[in-house]
Amino acid sequence: MFDNLSDRLGSVFASLKGRGSLKEQDVRDAMREVRIALLEADVALPVVRRFIDEVTEKAIGQNVLKSVTPGQQVIKIVNDALVDMLGGQDVPGIDLNAAPPVVIMMVGLQGSGKTTSTAKLGKLLKEKHGKKVLMASLDVNRPAAQEQLAVLGEQVGVGTLPIIAGQSPTAIAERAINSAKLTAVDVLLLDTAGRLHVDAALMEEMKAVAAISTPKETLLVVDSLTGQDAVNVAQSFAGEVDLTGVILTRMDGDARGGAALSMRAVTGKPIKFAGTGEKLDQIEVFQPSRVAGRILG
Ligand code: GDP
Repeated sequence: MFDNLSDRLGSVFASLKGRGSLKEQDVRDAMREVRIALLEADVALPVVRRFIDEVTEKAIGQNVLKSVTPGQQVIKIVNDALVDMLGGQDVPGIDLNAAPPVVIMMVGLQGSGKTTSTAKLGKLLKEKHGKKVLMASLDVNRPAAQEQLAVLGEQVGVGTLPIIAGQSPTAIAERAINSAKLTAVDVLLLDTAGRLHVDAALMEEMKAVAAISTPKETLLVVDSLTGQDAVNVAQSFAGEVDLTGVILTRMDGDARGGAALSMRAVTGKPIKFAGTGEKLDQIEVFQPSRVAGRILG
């Protein structure tokens, strides 16, 4: 995960680490390298600029360079700035604080890993939070989308709404809510239709579903491998619906990390979960400090 970025930063900091004294120019040289590493990692330019300015200012001020371990202190400053960039110290987690059934609406582009993430989240809520979960696919556009969720539901031992052919997404959502109420479900996961790109008709459909189901969480699923595109997609969705967070999938295969590092600063939305593999237990609560730790090795 984020191996390229980690390697690049590792070699920049290896030269700083052991040094007993550092000059301002050493810091500026190192920051030039960090800047290139972040841009190569596909981090958004304004985010990179702000990061470099902040770190440089802190590193050359505050007596850091006069300290006994200036290299270590610069690395600590970089670490703290990375944590902030990834979303800060607070892990927002998922908000289930509402009368059941608490609705979580999953949105995203086709192929982003939305249905897989729905099943992963269902399993996590059942096993780690002890919740009774129901999942329903509202995707009437893609053939077999509803069956796909049913199959995944069987695999993770989470119930799915029985499929009735020919129903509209809003009709399915209503049926899901009624069924969840009747069967004392704690959390209802609504897997909305995917789309190829951000498209007006499907955005309307998503809003209609949200109006009916008043989701407590609206989680956007985006693919980490698409870098800046993932961030642009998040901005488009955030303009249409009230996103409460992002699930970043395929972090396991992402050597660069640009989506993770730009998401919060560009969209203001927290990454709440990370998909770290194809298996249905490969989902993690996204913890900025852990991710920064992995990047800096
Ligand atoms: P959807 O069209 O957005 O519903 O996408 P799917 O849930 O069908 O996922 C598309 C593919 O991505 C499937 O083969 C999943 O197994 C795979 N996938 C989803 N999440 C992850 C992840 O976090 N890591 C990896 N390596 N693969 C994933």
